[in-house]
Amino acid sequence: MEAGPSAMTTTHTSARPDAPAAPAEPPVDVLVIGAGFSGLGMLYHLLERGFSARVVEAGDDVGGTWYWNRYPGCRCDSPTEVYQFFFSKELLQDWDWTHVYPAQPEILSYLRHVADRFDLRRHISLETRVRSASFNDATGTWRSTLDTGEVVESRFLVTAVGCLSDPQVPAYPGLENFRGEWHHTSRWPHSGVDFTGKRVGVIGTGSSGIQVIPEIAKEAAHLTVFQRTANFSFPARNRPLRPGEMEEFKASYDAIHAEIRAAKLGQRFAPMPGSALAVPAEVRQRFYEESWARGNAVLLFSGWEDLLTNEEANATAADFVRSKIAERIDDPETRDSLLPRNHPLGTKRPPLDTEYFETFNRDNVTLVDLRRTPIEEFCDGGVRVQTGVPDESQVHELDVLVFATGFDAITGPLLEIDITGSGGMSLREKWQDGPLTYLGLATAGFPNMFTITGPGSPAVISNMPTAIEQHNEWIRDCLVYMRDHGYQRIETSATTEEEWTVHVSELAQETLLVKVDSWYMGSNIPGKPRRFLSYLGGVGTYGDVITGVAAKDYDGFTFG
Ligand SMILES: Cc1cc2nc3c(=O)[nH]c(=O)nc-3n(C[C@H](O)[C@H](O)[C@H](O)COP(=O)(O)OP(=O)(O)OC[C@H]3O[C@@H](n4cnc5c(N)ncnc54)[C@H](O)[C@@H]3O)c2cc1C
Repeated sequence: MEAGPSAMTTTHTSARPDAPAAPAEPPVDVLVIGAGFSGLGMLYHLLERGFSARVVEAGDDVGGTWYWNRYPGCRCDSPTEVYQFFFSKELLQDWDWTHVYPAQPEILSYLRHVADRFDLRRHISLETRVRSASFNDATGTWRSTLDTGEVVESRFLVTAVGCLSDPQVPAYPGLENFRGEWHHTSRWPHSGVDFTGKRVGVIGTGSSGIQVIPEIAKEAAHLTVFQRTANFSFPARNRPLRPGEMEEFKASYDAIHAEIRAAKLGQRFAPMPGSALAVPAEVRQRFYEESWARGNAVLLFSGWEDLLTNEEANATAADFVRSKIAERIDDPETRDSLLPRNHPLGTKRPPLDTEYFETFNRDNVTLVDLRRTPIEEFCDGGVRVQTGVPDESQVHELDVLVFATGFDAITGPLLEIDITGSGGMSLREKWQDGPLTYLGLATAGFPNMFTITGPGSPAVISNMPTAIEQHNEWIRDCLVYMRDHGYQRIETSATTEEEWTVHVSELAQETLLVKVDSWYMGSNIPGKPRRFLSYLGGVGTYGDVITGVAAKDYDGFTFG
């Protein structure tokens, strides 16, 4: 595999014309980019309301996240009864999940089933990437150029490109010299990777690293884990659904749906009012113990509401979690390196794990703490790290390298596409100091374009299908409204998006999340403006806001 982020994009061999040709077909109402949860849901809703729509997807099948992330151990962290579509009662009744947290193949099967069941595939072009899209002021339509050379004309452009779909490998020196094979967790070979008898290195201990590490350790001759930041993680306590549990979900889906649509995180968790510091220590301890026993990040998601705003309150929970993590690791030096101390609990995405910390008790697993012994370079035999002694280095010999190094989150996949709006305005230029949106759904100067889970919406701070559903429905209703009123063009204004962006930023400033470096803040990408990219007011509140905007004849938008 080639080195560098450019190697992460799917490439195609079709010739590209020097200049975009005229569209071959009459305009379609809506072009949707991406066929994950967002794109499939959007397509369903558009077809159902009689719009013509086409979806373009880079992968060779539908599924998005669950198509690309095929690494061993990849599974959902949202409980199964909330991580799905709710638009069809028949679908809800027919589909049986197997586990509390389903694994990647199961979610991929589900999304493939959705595409087949609702006959969506004939509107989807697979293995095709949208390279550029430009708005034509004269015709009021979008022209999108695909990597096949085809140009698609559409009245509306809807991006369903995902928040975590642009994988990144940091620019480590010497990676091109490495003789072994290497893979990013989000571009995993469909044939799998055989680790048997191999010396394997995993770089990164975020959510994907925490899932993949225990699985590779079971197979590899030796596993070396390179850790830059020790991470908090909660035990998933995953298990097969018990007999009757699926039937209980099916009987309560209406109530579950109503609950998650109103909830802060789009899940069946609700923070407790008041401060963690206002209750006696033993009450706090009892709650933390009970939450820990339940698994998931219950302690954080259903804990006191100031856990993410007050450092002292947060420390009560963080200390508890650290003490639990410490119990799971035998070796004192390894334990010391694995204990997260440089950020408050929950300020980076909280992963769920299965035997992650226990994996470091295995004889075939070594932890390399990159804060103590940083990477110097990659070399033909593996990874050379400093030892802490001046001018001394050590090579960790490896056959296979796995990068669990994450994504250019939220804005990355949008800015990958060369999007130009009204008057030739470039989205990349417009957002060079950070994204500006109204509701995370639209940006001024880009008429008739909607961004599902765009920056400034709850997106990654939620159970994402709930947030996606809000956007799918809102866009659908907006297009119906326009059709009913004979409108051809919708846009927001610079003032409106400025107000929303300031509001999003102010909400974030009230929390501890802006105090640390994380992909939520864009800090993992060199040169990316450091800004909290999501709306922290909660999915329920956000739903009320966007419904209110629609009810006031799309307040903040103008039509033409
Ligand atoms: C490993 C992992 C675990 C996760 N676990 C959870 C979880 O437990 N709970 C949760 O709520 N969320 C989770 N997420 C977030 C997850 O991304 C969302 O839940 C959801 O799948 C997003 O759906 P989407 O359709 O918006 O985006 P995606 O699923 O990312 O789909 C976007 C699609 O757009 C395509 N695309 C992008 N650009 C172009 C282009 N220019 N041309 C053509 N196609 C393009 C991509 O190929 C991709 O298939 C996880 C993410 C990852 C990576």
